[in-house]
Amino acid sequence: MQLDQATQEQLRQWETELADEYQRIVNQKLNLDLTRGKPSPEQLSLSDALDGILKGDYKAADGTDTRNYGGLDGLPEAKQLGANLMGVDPEDVLVGGNSSLTLMFQVMLTAHQFGLTGADSAWKNEGNVKFLCPVPGYDRHHTVCEQLGIDMIAVPMTDAGPDMDKVEALVKDDPRIKGMWCVPKYSNPTGVVYSDETVERIAALGKIAGPNFRVFWDNAYAVHDLVDNPPELACVMKACAQHGTEDSVIQFASTSKITHAGAGVAFVNASPANLKGFKQFLGTCTIGPDKVNQIRHSRFLPNRDALMKHMQGHAELLKPRFAAVLDALNEAFAESDLGNWQEPQGGYFVSFDTRPGCAQDTVRLAAEAGVKLTPAGATFPYGQDPEDRNIRIAPSVPSVEEVKGAMKVFVVCVKLASVRKQLA
Ligand code: PLP
Repeated sequence: MQLDQATQEQLRQWETELADEYQRIVNQKLNLDLTRGKPSPEQLSLSDALDGILKGDYKAADGTDTRNYGGLDGLPEAKQLGANLMGVDPEDVLVGGNSSLTLMFQVMLTAHQFGLTGADSAWKNEGNVKFLCPVPGYDRHHTVCEQLGIDMIAVPMTDAGPDMDKVEALVKDDPRIKGMWCVPKYSNPTGVVYSDETVERIAALGKIAGPNFRVFWDNAYAVHDLVDNPPELACVMKACAQHGTEDSVIQFASTSKITHAGAGVAFVNASPANLKGFKQFLGTCTIGPDKVNQIRHSRFLPNRDALMKHMQGHAELLKPRFAAVLDALNEAFAESDLGNWQEPQGGYFVSFDTRPGCAQDTVRLAAEAGVKLTPAGATFPYGQDPEDRNIRIAPSVPSVEEVKGAMKVFVVCVKLASVRKQLA
């Protein structure tokens, strides 16, 4: 199907045929859901051995009784788990509770209100501050900025990460830009892995940015590969060390999509100065994190090999679901001008761009046919996709058969929305 070359007559004929096909789907009263980027029950079961793993032995390697208060920055073996996950030094890791999103919010709150390196460094001292948001991106990052009244500036993603020419120009030009969100590996939702050059240029931003600039490096999918020879992400902290910009990047990760999503362990990796500032804030919120869960995780995933082997189990469950999405898109749209997408090598999402002005209609049509998709625009700051193109597909939860069924509906909805837009 090539819409740009189609005559009005051809378009009208397609519209009639597609509307019939769509009505047949509506009559089936389907109830399918491609919205949730969370693990399936089978994936969660891969970690059920966490339950009871301690067998009454609550002592950490250094003798800490994990049942008691304390240990604001985490057990040494839990720091090691975070270090294995992010490829950094355990000394530079703080271990929190179950959610890295909470840590991201708390670090941003600290930077904004209290200052990570003393009260003079608080962003709020500079009035309205701004953050760069590569788009499409993760909606909850945007919500964090909105909650704190931080203005968001969208920067386009390329196949190699954020458009660094634009990022550097913006950062040089405006000292009130205080940082940038990054999901450097298997970006949510595009699946892009930042290139070595992009990582290098991001590490160097601290040299051209205004004061107290911080990149939030959300490495949520650090080990979530779907292929045998996965791409490697360069270590941003090493690059920062070479540039002398260690304070300008703060890394986050968690075991949410490794073990039990609601009962995992989250990590911050940052320079000593940033960790010191953050701990000052954290110490006012809590006497310490859930160290029993930290030690359960350390025993369940004692080293990098165990971690990577465990992730293979996830990949086995996820691969056929991603294949179902990609096969459907290839079959329907490879020879068409109806949309673009990337084939992710890991992560949780497939990002599909419709023709301009068709995403909202596609999502609405799919909903009315019983297939829930993430709201169009959700991947952009303020929920506004200026071109109304991007749709995030999350295939991890439904069964393979359900993903196939949902993709049949998705394809018809994209075609119908696109043909109608062309006719309008
Ligand atoms: N960061 C990204 C990029 C995500 O996609 C998600 C969940 O979908 C999270 C963070 C949430 O992480 P956590 O469960 O550790 O709060």
